[in-house]
Amino acid sequence: MNTFAYRDGHYFAENVAVRQIADVVGTPFYCYSRAAIEARYDAIAGALKEFDALVCYAVKANSNQALIGLLAARGAGADVVSEGEMRRALAAGIPASKIVYSGVAKTVREIEFALQQDIRQFNVESEQELRVISAAAVRLNRIAHVAFRINPNVDAGTHEKISTGKAENKFGIAIEYARRAYDEARALPGIEVRGVDLHIGSQIMNLAPFEAAFSRIAELVEDLRRAGHTISTIDLGGGLGINYDRQNDKAPGIDDYAKIVRKTVGHLDCRIIVEPGRWLVGNAGVLVSSVIYTKTNGATKFLIIDAAMNDFLRPSMYNAYHSIVGEQQTDAAQVLYDIVGPVCETGDTFARKRQLPEQDAGDLVVIEGAGAYGSVMASTYNTRPLIPEVMVDGDEFRVIRQRPDYDSMIALDIPWDAAG
Ligand SMILES: *Cc1c(COP(=O)(O)O)cnc(C)c1O
Repeated sequence: MNTFAYRDGHYFAENVAVRQIADVVGTPFYCYSRAAIEARYDAIAGALKEFDALVCYAVKANSNQALIGLLAARGAGADVVSEGEMRRALAAGIPASKIVYSGVAKTVREIEFALQQDIRQFNVESEQELRVISAAAVRLNRIAHVAFRINPNVDAGTHEKISTGKAENKFGIAIEYARRAYDEARALPGIEVRGVDLHIGSQIMNLAPFEAAFSRIAELVEDLRRAGHTISTIDLGGGLGINYDRQNDKAPGIDDYAKIVRKTVGHLDCRIIVEPGRWLVGNAGVLVSSVIYTKTNGATKFLIIDAAMNDFLRPSMYNAYHSIVGEQQTDAAQVLYDIVGPVCETGDTFARKRQLPEQDAGDLVVIEGAGAYGSVMASTYNTRPLIPEVMVDGDEFRVIRQRPDYDSMIALDIPWDAAG
């Protein structure tokens, strides 16, 4: 299915021309395809069916209520990393019994909130955290179901800022100390161990690190069982990479991922949880922006657009490649552009030396693969309002988050005299 494609020379999201949306909501805006999100969810749930898998959508990838709601309606759970995300997941209709809570720095307040909701599982990242959860559970007269996040010391071969499974990363409990942690958990009140958990990084384009990590986890499960621990769930985390470059990338297929799961942990008779974020929504969204100016400085031709690094941070933060195309499919001469935004720093660059048909002020360009880690990482730097989000479903589109107005942005501040 090609949910984002040219039709009669114009860029469409499903059956809606992005130009039509731009005329209504203005640019820049995020545009998501409902069909694309649902197709991805069905694909991963289908591929992992034999493991009775619970697909816990990693809400941090895109936490809009409309997206979470679609996934909730299909049976997804949620992987959350803060009280705010837990509240978003619950508000969108994900039952607490399908929420797993990850993160290295859960506060007492957050832990108490999670216990009151009776979430499915805490993915515990340290022994100190375990003790805090136990004390909170006793105070509230609840049982905390826990898995330890194990750091398997595997290099995911991804960008250093999103690699999480190496010994030097802050995440999880080193696999050498796992036995000790499980023994302690067994002795603590208010704690019931459910299983093991891991998450080795994001945008992983090769299955070998998954295979290595899952194999280590399988050995650990067998060790723990020999020591008398009950391990009924394995949470394999997220991290599966996607194609950002239509021409060149080769993301692993979901069936091959399922084969690795079968081969490494399939014999353990555990319920499998996965926590995909990017894989579910990354290619289900684009960012549509207008060309404001074009100019040439020396040998460099600039395409200056109305989206900026505050709207979409991945290119400047991770040096991420995103395909960027014109809204019009034309025979105009191809030009190599540096594509930049309005923010006053050189980091506000989406791409360098990128080939596009010649563009002019007022034309639209589309940044593809912007569904994950796009809107959620946006800020209002330069007092630029957060940009709207739109979802398309067949012939219809709806605004699923509005552009705030300037007055309401400024009204968040309190002048000194009024603050007194
Ligand atoms: C970020 C994160 C995910 C999702 O990662 P993706 O690469 O988007 O699939 C899943 N689990 C945990 C614990 C995370 O921190």
